[in-house]
Amino acid sequence: MTLILIVALLFSSCAFIVWSFSKFHHPARFDNNLGRHFIAIIDAGHGAFTHFGLLDEGATRYGVKEADVAIAIAKKLQKELERRGWIAITTRDGDFTPFGLIERARLSSLVNADVFVSIHLNSYRNGKPHGLSVHYWSEESRPLAKLMQTRLCRTLGLKDRGVVRQPLTVLTWASVPAILIELGFISNPAEVRRLTNTKFQDKAAKAMADTLTMWACGRCDESTPCSPSIRPTR
Ligand SMILES: [Zn+2]
Repeated sequence: MTLILIVALLFSSCAFIVWSFSKFHHPARFDNNLGRHFIAIIDAGHGAFTHFGLLDEGATRYGVKEADVAIAIAKKLQKELERRGWIAITTRDGDFTPFGLIERARLSSLVNADVFVSIHLNSYRNGKPHGLSVHYWSEESRPLAKLMQTRLCRTLGLKDRGVVRQPLTVLTWASVPAILIELGFISNPAEVRRLTNTKFQDKAAKAMADTLTMWACGRCDESTPCSPSIRPTR
């Protein structure tokens, strides 16, 4: 009887040691090498304070503020990514953030993120220009920029204004693949109506999340499309 107890005790101790060891070496949430989770920094454009203590709300047209549309879509994108197994961190949760542009970009290296995505709306002095463009800086960001541009234009039926290599602060300071999406023109009357529509925002967030997931899974080839429900978690 004593022998059985000793064996049982030894067995459970061994099991506990193996369990703690595996937990310590393979933290389920943060080990990208195991493909369990990808990490995204989602930057809702604007919402920082300027040197004069004024809040930067981006462009305002037809009573719509760029910063408000950007955060609405950023929050939806966060939820969509979480549904697909991502850890998604936003640079602001409300009207304003203490983070400037460089701090926002630096968050990507602080949390060892896989990708940085900034959401903005374009604007012009007249209401004519419309369409979507994706901006990038580093060469490693280019494939994602192209994929996002193609898929968003197709899904949302927006004019394709192409990908643009541009040294924007959030892109040059990001240590990971980084893109800035100008989702449409707030200065175009038809486009601003769509951009403020909840269904359009949902569709845009889903298309962004699907594209990021496809890209992250390394299946960016348009000829072999992945299921939208694909999850990086194995
Ligand atoms: Zn902007």
